[in-house]
Amino acid sequence: MHEWSIAYSVVKTLIENFNKKISKVTLVIPLFSFLDIKILKEAFNELKKENPIVENAELEVKIQEPTFRCRNGNREFKFSDIQQQVGEVKNSYGEEYPLHLMPELLPAFVKCPYCGSHDIEAIGQEIYIEKVEEYGAVERVS
Ligand SMILES: [Zn+2]
Repeated sequence: MHEWSIAYSVVKTLIENFNKKISKVTLVIPLFSFLDIKILKEAFNELKKENPIVENAELEVKIQEPTFRCRNGNREFKFSDIQQQVGEVKNSYGEEYPLHLMPELLPAFVKCPYCGSHDIEAIGQEIYIEKVEEYGAVERVS
């Protein structure tokens, strides 16, 4: 039910920070969050009903590929650079492989492609609102 608490945070943030009706909100989530986007959108659409600021807002979700940093050589690399290593972990453990359940275990299974160190961290793993679009600033008069 993690999706519901995220959807709730988004709706709450919008209500607290905006005075105009919102048409669209773009949320960035990391690849390794493994959130169910469909459930996230359903939750958002349910929670937005009560408040005129968000009731017509559309939720757009962008998946962000994480970047990694090796603490040993201080070099950064992308998920595509270690995708093969992750694939091998997945092959040996099956669908419920450990990185799926606990992404923070990544350094235990994956090595820096440059120096082979396991002392790596994922950066850019946070969920954030990238963009909020409001309806025209001018109130329409009918
Ligand atoms: Zn390294």
